[in-house]
Formats: sequence, structure tokens, C-alpha cells
Amino acid sequence: MSFDGDIKARNESAWLLPTDGSRTDHRLRADMRRYADRDEVDLVVVGAGAGGSVLTQRLARAGWSVVCLDAGPFWDPDTDWVSDERASHTLYWTDPRQIGGKDPVPLGSNNSGRGVGGSMIHYAGYTPRFHPSDFRTRTADGVGADWPIGYPDLKPHYQHLEAELPVAGQDWPWGDPHRYPHHPHPVSGNGEIFLRGAAAAGITARVGPVAITNGRFGNRPHCIYRGFCLQGCKVNAKASPLITHIPDALAHGAEIRPDSHVTRVLIDDRTGRVTGVSYLRAGVEHRQRARAVAIAGYSIETPRLLLLSATPRYPGGLGNDHDQVGRYLMVQGAPQTAGRFDDEIRMYKAPPPEVSSEQFYETDPGKPYQRGWSIQTVSPLPITWAEHVTAQGHWGEPLREYMRDYVHWATLGALCEFLPDPGNRVTLAEETDRHGLPVAHFAYTQTDNDRLLMRAARQSMEAILRAAGAAEVITIDRYAHLVGGARMATRPEDGVVDADHRVFGVPNLFIVDGSVLPTQGAANPALTIMALAARAAHRLATRQVHADTPSPAGAR
Ligand SMILES: Cc1cc2nc3c(=O)[nH]c(=O)nc-3n(C[C@H](O)[C@H](O)[C@H](O)COP(=O)(O)OP(=O)(O)OC[C@H]3O[C@@H](n4cnc5c(N)ncnc54)[C@H](O)[C@@H]3O)c2cc1C
Ligand code: SF4
Repeated sequence: MSFDGDIKARNESAWLLPTDGSRTDHRLRADMRRYADRDEVDLVVVGAGAGGSVLTQRLARAGWSVVCLDAGPFWDPDTDWVSDERASHTLYWTDPRQIGGKDPVPLGSNNSGRGVGGSMIHYAGYTPRFHPSDFRTRTADGVGADWPIGYPDLKPHYQHLEAELPVAGQDWPWGDPHRYPHHPHPVSGNGEIFLRGAAAAGITARVGPVAITNGRFGNRPHCIYRGFCLQGCKVNAKASPLITHIPDALAHGAEIRPDSHVTRVLIDDRTGRVTGVSYLRAGVEHRQRARAVAIAGYSIETPRLLLLSATPRYPGGLGNDHDQVGRYLMVQGAPQTAGRFDDEIRMYKAPPPEVSSEQFYETDPGKPYQRGWSIQTVSPLPITWAEHVTAQGHWGEPLREYMRDYVHWATLGALCEFLPDPGNRVTLAEETDRHGLPVAHFAYTQTDNDRLLMRAARQSMEAILRAAGAAEVITIDRYAHLVGGARMATRPEDGVVDADHRVFGVPNLFIVDGSVLPTQGAANPALTIMALAARAAHRLATRQVHADTPSPAGAR
């Protein structure tokens, strides 16, 4: 496969993960390098999820000494995970959080993960790119925000990561049209329904893109199509940092320190520079010294940590001189539509991510709303199916009837691009957690555009299922994928980090996770978060940005 816009230099391509699937064994941790708290490492990364793991891996390969702390465990898929919906709740971040606003977003299993691999342990596996338009929605559509970087800045990193994970799918006609390194998977009953209904309704749909091995890949076996992707994939066919970038980081000298909850970023108030982090492990407080710190704790915990790290020099929290921390937090509207068919569909007999369409992704000038949505197969397992049915108000005997009928249903989900709003934000609540730290309060209210988009997305999915022959169609409204809250901007008045992920006003503090996204598109975010982390690492390792000088826009 050729990479146009590739990173050419040989020493730089040496930072990439091998694309033959070698070194994917998480058990390498037995031999991992370990640093003492008193060692001043080059970088401490907070959170070993989508962003943190790629940053750790790339910089470890570039020769940096890196310690990555995660609040959760270092999972062993063989012993820790079960192919069981109920027993997989340990994968989620379920610490207390408060929600509010006019349209509160339930937090728990449909948001963030906990432990090495982060939320990608239980993500579905869809790995689409953002469209070029996502980076300039303010200019193009008069809504949202323009990013300080553009699609071409991320393109080479998208290409590398698609080869590293690897991603399987049909040629992609939307956004920046591209191909995938691995062939698409065969589709099951739910995927067939989507393809059939879309064709009948005049909608283009494609198989993929999914980060699930199609054939053996190194020591990762072929997907066995049993559908437990959201429960962690014991088989290791689905890519997550736990089996891709983390083992490679370990092999290049990084330390991954699990069960280590970072409670504060430490600052020398005389210089305004970060000196390390304070963290709790087994109830004992530790301090890891570092020359620089990168936070990658997900959209709720990252702003919370910035606020918890206030000092006399930064009384409102780090990066918050302009009251930007926690603002513009976004969630995608994710309505889910199920259709009943006389034939047995058995939607659980495949990975939930199979087929998707981005036909409605871009703004349609003929419509009363801006931006758009994507549509994907989602295939809920029985407990999630029961939640779908009860959200429709069914209970008792009707609920039992829907449950008995489970094998006859096919389900699609939409991802609607809800717009960023400054009032949708994380603040600190008065309630405290088990460590005595204020929990996050997340207020969320939809815009009129969001509601119109959600209605149109529901109609498009219902049209597909009806065109496929569904006798009954039921739709519920949900949310998915939190991003934003510490957004990237050109000026500190508009965001928390600059285009190099550096926190305005704190020269050696970086944020490298989904919280930096200024807009969210209608694509699932993990690949974009990884690509941003890969770009940030590349710029740090090549000294295009370094932790020793202040960010020009945020110097204080
Ligand atoms: C059910 C579900 C399905 C999804 N499916 C998809 C999909 O198909 N495709 C897709 O692209 N995206 C999907 N996502 C979303 C995707 O997984 C996340 O957007 C992405 O992983 C976020 O990356 P991140 O780096 O911001 O945070 P995460 O990957 O969540 O990593 C954050 C890490 O930080 C740790 N952490 C947090 N606070 C602290 C602290 N104070 N100290 C130490 N460690 C800390 C956490 O334990 C966690 O491991 C899905 C999410 C869910 C919930
Ligand atoms: S369906 Fe495939 S990717 Fe999903 S959990 Fe099973 S083996 Fe893993």
C-alpha cells in the first residue's frame, strides 16, 4: 500500500508499529522497565487509552523515558474478560459523576472505559476517518468551530494507524476517498439487511471500516464472529491499544503503571512549569517526577484533573485563565432503530460493527439543519436489546414478547454531529469521590439544530429498514462518544490547548485525548484521537514543539 503524504525519514518511520502483527502480546509486561517515583522521566502520560497509548508508544520508540499511569487494571483478556454482557461491567468507568442541563447525558457503560487500553477495550471497533470538512465547519457552514489544523495534517497518521491496527473495509467513497489495507469482512444477517434496505432506498452503504483482523495477523487470530466486541474481545481479533500500541511501548522501554489514579498535576508556582504528578496506588499517595506531562484521561476526567490541579498561580485550574476548561463538551446523538423481519436475523452472530453509510454526513443546503449523520449496524446483545424495548415503554408481557422475538430483529444506529456549545461543560461538584476529591458535574443541553438532525437521522434509518421489508420499526434516542472539554484553538481565549496539544500558559503540559476535539463530525472518534496523538508525538520527537519553551500564544 502506498502512503501519499507519508512521513519519509527512515528514523521517523521507525517509530511506527510493525504492520505484520508482530509484537502484539500484552504479556510482555512481565519484563517491562520500571522507574522509581524519584526518577525524573521525560514524560508522564495520564491514561493508557486511545490517545495516551499511541503517544506513549511513539515517544518510547523515539527514545524518550515514558511512564504511563492508568487508574484501572492492566487487563489480561484470558483471565479478566468473559463473553457475557452482564459480567463485563468492570470494563467501564463507573466512579460517581453528576449530570445536569436540559438534556442530561447518562454516564456509564456508553461513555468511558477504565484500565490499560481505555475505552477502546469495549469500543465496537468502527474506525472511520473524519472528513476534511470537519476541520472547518465554521467557515464552510457557519456553525461549530474551525480547527487550528486541517485534514492534511492528520492524513499520514490516519494511513499509518489503519495499517497498524489494521483496518478492514471496502473502498471508501466519502470525505477524502481512500482504500483500506485489509479486505472487508463477510457480513451477517444484520449487515445483509442494511445493504439490502440501503440499496432499495437509494442509499450507498459500505462494509467496514473496522479494526478487526480479517485473517490471522501476527499472533492475533481471525475474528470468530461471536459478537462480544463491546465486552472486550477475548480472542484479540479486535484491535485495542492493549494488544497493539501498549506491547510495542513496553518493548521500547516505556513503563505502564496500572491501578494508579492521578489526583493532581504538580506545578512549581515560581516557574509555572509542571514537575510531575501526584497519584494514588492502593490508597497510598505517590509522586512521579517528570520533565513534561501529557493528560489523556477522556473528556470528563481530563477537564476534571485540570480543575483539581489549581494552585495560587493558576487559581481557576490549569489552562483555565480564560474560563475555557470543561466547555464545548460534545456528545453525538445516537438514535437506534430496530426492524422486525419474518426471517431469523440473529444479529448477535457477528461483530456489531459491520456496515456503515456516510451519505448524510455533510451539510445539505436544501435542509433546515447544518452538518449531518452516519448510519451503522449496531446489533445489541439481549440486555441492551431489553433496554431498547423498555425505552419504548414496553414492560411486563409485551417486553417478554419482544425478548422472545429477539432473533427476528435487525438494528441500526446513527451518529449525529451535535454542535459544540460553551454551556455544555464539566465543572467540579460539591460531592466528593472515595478519595475525597470533587466529582465532575456535566451539564448538557441540545441545540435546535441537534434536535432537527436527530429527527432526520431517525427517519433515514426507518426508511432503510422498511425498504428492507421490516414489518415493525421501533426507534429510541440515545447518546454516544463524548469528546471536547479542553479544545484545541489558536488563541487561549477560545480553547485550552494550542495546535501542538500544549496547554495555554503551561509550557510542559499537554493534552492528547478526545477532549481536544473542537468539533466531532459524524464519525466514531477513536481513530482520529489516535491520529492526533501520533501527530503530537511526531512533533514532540522532532522538536517541532518542545516542552522547554512557552507556547507563543499562551506565554505568561
Ligand atoms: C460502548 C462504546 C462503544 C464505542 N465504540 C466505538 C467505535 O466503534 N469506534 C470509535 O471510534 N469509538 C468508539 N467508542 C469511543 C472510543 O472508545 C473513545 O472515544 C476513545 O477511546 C476515547 O479515547 P481517549 O484517549 O479520549 O480516552 P480513553 O480511551 O477512554 O482512555 C482514558 C484512560 O484514562 C484513564 N484515566 C482517566 N482518568 C485518570 C486519572 N485521573 N488517572 C489515571 N488514569 C486515568 C482511564 O482509566 C482510561 O483508561 C466507543 C465507546 C463506547 C463506550
Ligand atoms: S466478533 Fe470478532 S472482534 Fe468481536 S469479540 Fe468476537 S472475535 Fe472479537
